[in-house]
Amino acid sequence: MPAATEYRYNRLTWPEINDAVAAQKLVILPTGSTEQHGAHLPLDVDVFLCESVCLEVGRRAPDKVLVLPPIAYGLNLHHIDFPGTIHIEPETFIAFCLNITKSVAYHGFKKILLVNGHGSNQPLIDLVARKTVLATESLCFATGYFLFLLEKFKEIRETEIIAHADEFETSLYLHLAPERVQMDKAVADNDRMGEFTSSDSTGNYPVRFNDFWGRWTRTGVHGDPTKATAEKGKIVFEAAVSGLVALVDELRAWPIEKRADMHKLPVQSQIRW
Ligand SMILES: [Zn+2]
Repeated sequence: MPAATEYRYNRLTWPEINDAVAAQKLVILPTGSTEQHGAHLPLDVDVFLCESVCLEVGRRAPDKVLVLPPIAYGLNLHHIDFPGTIHIEPETFIAFCLNITKSVAYHGFKKILLVNGHGSNQPLIDLVARKTVLATESLCFATGYFLFLLEKFKEIRETEIIAHADEFETSLYLHLAPERVQMDKAVADNDRMGEFTSSDSTGNYPVRFNDFWGRWTRTGVHGDPTKATAEKGKIVFEAAVSGLVALVDELRAWPIEKRADMHKLPVQSQIRW
């Protein structure tokens, strides 16, 4: 039955989607961006890396997941001084993604997972997941694929900063498509850092802040891509994929309890938020 072996959502027909709903496959939505990533990487880094990880999760668990076509655009106005970057307003992004998760829920899928590959989308997909839970009878979870490889990357990394077009992203791209990485153009760069604040809000700063990148970098890089290798990329790819495959099992088994109502008197259940 195709629904048991096909992991790409839009390769199924509508009768096969009925089978996939009956099997309660977890539906994955990858989210990325079209954004400058220094002079050495193409604009598709965030969406290409994220989708590649999600599709490999699908290949390894084809009976458990369906991967939707990715969102290739995100919140990016802070990168707009660099040619090619596409920006989507956060409200538009949230509304667009929510329409997708609600459609998936409408068809009967009970578990949805948003897997993000673009840092600035992270607070937005958190909201999409929460709004989906509150508006539907399905459960929607949000994560970033990079969260599943950090521990492994700590063992092999040569530089401190994990941010943008850096050692990590460049390594992963080198593993997946080395012919598209121009390592001769890779340079290291850093953001502006104070005691409590940094201009790219990366790391453990207590203040969240993201300045226009045109104010503090001329390269568009945050981190050191010159230390990137395909070998490191292979290790972190494996870590991300195996972590997410384990997450799939956890989420598919997550119970959807009946809500208990603690009111003594009738509530105004017609109210809609
Ligand atoms: Zn990136």
